[in-house]
Order: sequence, then C-alpha cells, then structure tokens
Amino acid sequence: MINEEDQRQKPELSVRGISASQGISYGQIFVYIQSDVEVPVFQVEKNKVAGEIARFEQALMVTRQQIQKIMAEVEKNLGAEEARIFDAHLLVLEDQALITETVRELEKTRTNVETCFNRIAQRYIKAFEEIDDEYLRERGGDIRDVAQRVLANLLGRTNQTLSKLVEKRIVVANDISPSDAAGIDSSQALGMVTDSGSKTSHAVIVARSMKIPAVVGVRDFTTKVQAGDWVLVDGYEGVVILNPSESTLIRYGQIQRQKQSYEQRLFEANSLPAITLDGVKLTLRANIEKVDEVELVKNYHADGVGLFRTEFLYLNSPEAPSEESQYTAYRTLAEQLAPSPVVVRSLDLGGDKPAQSQAHLFPKENNPFLGYRAIRFCLDQTELFKVQLRAILRASAHGNIQLMYPMISGREELGRANEILAECKAELSQKGIAFNKELKVGSMIEIPSAAMTADLLARDCDFFSIGTNDLIQYLIAIDRVNDRIAHLYEPTHPAVLRTLRHVVVEAHRAKIKVSVCGEMAGDPLYTPLLFGLGVDELSMTPPLLPAAKHILRNMTMSDAKKLAQMAMAMSSPKDINALCERFSADRLKA
Ligand code: PEP
Ligand code: MG
Repeated sequence: MINEEDQRQKPELSVRGISASQGISYGQIFVYIQSDVEVPVFQVEKNKVAGEIARFEQALMVTRQQIQKIMAEVEKNLGAEEARIFDAHLLVLEDQALITETVRELEKTRTNVETCFNRIAQRYIKAFEEIDDEYLRERGGDIRDVAQRVLANLLGRTNQTLSKLVEKRIVVANDISPSDAAGIDSSQALGMVTDSGSKTSHAVIVARSMKIPAVVGVRDFTTKVQAGDWVLVDGYEGVVILNPSESTLIRYGQIQRQKQSYEQRLFEANSLPAITLDGVKLTLRANIEKVDEVELVKNYHADGVGLFRTEFLYLNSPEAPSEESQYTAYRTLAEQLAPSPVVVRSLDLGGDKPAQSQAHLFPKENNPFLGYRAIRFCLDQTELFKVQLRAILRASAHGNIQLMYPMISGREELGRANEILAECKAELSQKGIAFNKELKVGSMIEIPSAAMTADLLARDCDFFSIGTNDLIQYLIAIDRVNDRIAHLYEPTHPAVLRTLRHVVVEAHRAKIKVSVCGEMAGDPLYTPLLFGLGVDELSMTPPLLPAAKHILRNMTMSDAKKLAQMAMAMSSPKDINALCERFSADRLKA
C-alpha cells in the first residue's frame, strides 16, 4: 500500500475526461475490473514458464477460496438453495480443459499466463454465448465471472463488488454497469473515474443522484494507475489528477470550499417556491431509481417524482421482483409523497440495462439501444409486464400515482400497451381489488418517430414526458454511452430544439402537458431554454434541483421565451450553447 508521503515522490499527472457528476474528492483508488479489461501482454523466458504455472495455480486457489467465502455468506444470509448458484462457478475452476489449454498456450507461445488464460477463457465464453440453448448460454456467464476473478487475482488487483467497499475509496474502472452503480456503497465510494462512458450513461445518472463526484471517458486511465495510488477527482471540470502535489491539493481545497459554500447557499434557498421574477409558478420534479430516495425528494423540495426508473428494482436481484414487492415499493412512494404525483415508468430494461434476473431473455445484440428493450420487451413478455402493471394499479389506490411507458415509437405500440393495461384493470375489478380508475397514463417521447407523431399519440394519453437522453441519441445518431463521440452529443442542436418545440405545440394543441425528464432538464444552462420553449415541467436528479430553482427564480418568463425564440432562429449548436451560457452566467450567481 502506498502512503501519502511516498505518493508525493511520484510525478503529478493531470488528465481530462467528461465531467459527469459535480464535486471534488481526493483519496486512494480502488481498481474495479470489468469484463473486457486490458490484460498486459509480455513474453516470458523458458526458465520462467514453471513460475507462470505456479502463479496460475495460486490464482486458481485464491479464487476458489473467495468463491467459497461468498457461498458461505450467501448461505448464511439467503439460504442454502441460493448458495448453490455458486456451485457452477466452482465447477468452472475445476474445468480441466480450461486449465490444460491455458498451460499448453503458455508453453507454446511463452506469453504471460494472464494473457493465455484470458485468450482461452474468451474463446470458451464466445462459444457458449453462441449456443442456442438457454442453460448453456448461462454457463458462458459463469465462465466470464470466474475468469474475471482469476484475472484480477493474477494481476494483483482485488476483484470485488462495489457494494462491499470496505474503506473509503475512489473507484477507478474501465466501465461501470448500471447494476454495479446501483449496488455501490455510497458511504464508501468517494468518487468515480472510468475509461469509457458519457454524461447520460445510466451508471453516471446513479452517481449524480448519490452526489458521488465522477469523471468519465478518461480513455486509458486504468492502465496508468496502480492499486493504492492517490487521486483527485474534479467532477466540475472533468479533470482527474493522479499523484497530486501539495500545491495542487491546497488549490483544490480552496476551490472546494468556494463551491461548497455556493452550493450551501443554493440549498438553503431551495425551500422557496419555484416562481419566476414575473410571477410564473413552475413545476420541478425528481427523478429517482430507488424507493429510499424518497427522502431526497422531500429534502430537495421536489414537486413529487417525475420519473421513477423501475428497472433498478430488477437490476441487482437474482429474481424478478414479485407483484407484491413492487406494489409495496410504489405504494410507499405514493403514500409518502401524496398529494404530489409519482410518475412510475414501466420497465425500461435492455440497452445498457439488461437485468441479471432476466439475462436469459436478452441475447447479445449488435445494437442494444436500437434493439430489444423497454416497451418492446414488455409487449413481448406480457406476463412480466402485467405483473408490473397490476402492482402500479393497486398502488394507485393509495396516492397520486401516474404511469408512463418508455420508448414508445408510434400509436399502435401505445394502443397495445393501453390494451394490456385495460386487461389488468378488468382482472382487478373482477377480484374487487381497488385501483384508481382515472389513473393518468403518459407516453415518453424519446424516439424521433414518436415526436413526429406527437399529435397521434396525444389522442391516447394524458401527458408526455420527453426523454432527451435517448431522443438526442436517436436524433443525432450518437450512441449515448460512447465517449469517443460524446462531443457530438449536443442538446442545443437545432434538430433537438425544433423537435422539442414541435412536441410542445402538438401536446398543447391536444391540451395535455409536457415534461422533460432527460439529463438536459437538470442542467441549469438549459432550464430557461426548456421553459422558454413552452415545456410545462422539468424532472431531474434531486441534487440538481437547487441550481435549477435558483436560475428560474432569477429570470423572467418573458426573457426565457425571448431566449428560446433567438435560439430557434440560430443554426449552430455551439452558438446556441454560448447564448444559453450568457443567459445563465449572471443569473446563476448566488
Ligand atoms: C431519457 O432517455 O431521457 C430518459 C429519461 O430515460 P433513460 O435515461 O432512463 O433512458
Ligand atoms: Mg430513455
């Protein structure tokens, strides 16, 4: 372990990434290994081959002990049946083919053992994943899991789950999946740095809601660090400093104090109503992923929940959540926040959020964001969909629950979802189970075809909620989690503004309201623009509410409308962004 003193001897290295979650943190790193981690490749001399084999055997032994320890914990906490799942992992470790082929590869190629093992394991994983048999495909997943553990042990990096961080650390990873992020222990994770990712990847959205400073898209950062290194994360500017010098730490100490005092002033003013200088009352709601975030909704004075991402109930659980457990979750939210609304979004699994419990239903796809996800998945897996709809309906008897469907692409899809909802209502009525017969149902607008047919969709729903994260990705054809093209992901692209305006006009023509619940809504740079374009409500991660409220309490609605008009007449995303910056600069001062 490197102490801070030794650390100072190392040269400081400052790298730039994408600012993903605001805040500054400093601490020792914890390298988290994910599947496709880069494994160093080097040649070994003939007389070192036996040493490599011994290293391999040692790593297999340590891995076995780790798995047995997890089994014992699972057995104690969940029961013997659940612990049996890990039998398959132990079997992988005993797989003679995997072991002898690795040794043979080592002897033949004389490359280091982690490279040989990785090559053979990847070959096996690929072979299993291509098999048209559910059981055998799952075996591919087992091999992947165990292989990661063995690799981590060979590389001398602790393989772990983020929920079990034992000391306060800055998590450094090549990537973090939404399920990893959801399971993160926020009291121990000081910050997050990833090689890949972007502002709207779901792991980042989770970090933002937990107020964990994060910088993503730092390319090959994991190859530059060693376990125990000290690092400073500047989530405001998207900068990561490895081995910061004393003067850097002092400078950042000052910046942090200024930022904290600014944020504290905004937080204190946040209990005031969201009213513009010319007296227009606006609605700001919260986006949440977990039921216990209801406290955040209250602390940040949100007008209820504008987006409850229910897929997080599925992500880290070995089984799909039952109707009863979902009902309890939705009911708790409804009761705690009544009379404010809680907009529950039906399952949006798929894309970058395949659920562990449903993994067998998500075969590998070339374009997962264009594939089998969200409402497409639910309309195909109707039984699973109905379990959720019944839970939502039953909870609607206990507060102001509203329902919305993600990824609607056109009127037929919306109609089919509503038909299934009607079937659920009929089932409940037949059994005499209470639900709100007037339950409001909304459609998310996040696919260009939905935006273009907003007039048609408006006939069959009560409100729209624009998911700009996906809408921008599909409008500009920018993969929302690809850091290489993240600079092209421009919320102020004229195509985005025109689409937003079109949806607002059509919604208002049909006399329904429009909310925006994508990350654009939580950026104070765009709050005036969105309200100026005529959007009725914004919904965002709770910690972002104070800045949004502050800016709109310092603007007039008529200025926001002028801003939107000017922006609509402009052609360059950069110029529009600069216009928004000029508008908010003075108004963001506190
Ligand atoms: C969106 O796409 O903007 C949205 C809110 O949904 P998600 O980020 O969960 O895809
Ligand atoms: Mg979306």
